[in-house]
Amino acid sequence: MNDCLFCKIATGAITADVLYEDDEVLAFRDIAPQAPHHFLVIPRRHLSGPAAIGSDEEQLFGKMMRIGAELAEKLGIGTGFRVVLNNGAEAGQTVFHIHMHILGGRPMHWPPG
Ligand code: C5P
Repeated sequence: MNDCLFCKIATGAITADVLYEDDEVLAFRDIAPQAPHHFLVIPRRHLSGPAAIGSDEEQLFGKMMRIGAELAEKLGIGTGFRVVLNNGAEAGQTVFHIHMHILGGRPMHWPPG
């Protein structure tokens, strides 16, 4: 999508601190980290959010989770990290291109805000 920020990051039109990339998936550090380690895993292809995942995206979504967990391990937070997916503005979604937040490096509390 032309006006999608994360599509622009996916094409390299906007720079990001990229931790991983392949032809389908990209992971980069969040610009406003909420924990010592906070990165986002996105598909290159535009999908608006978790509710847009259909049967065609099941494998892609599993891959995003695997890459997130592998990066967490590599960054030294493999034994304790949080995965967050916001769906819709009411849930706090601000960028409408699906992204998996991975946060770690500090104690996490429950319930989240
Ligand atoms: O789940 P939500 O849509 O609120 O998350 C969007 C995230 O994208 C925020 O954590 C924000 O800091 C991050 N962001 C980013 N780089 C940008 C713009 C937003 O990492 N250029």
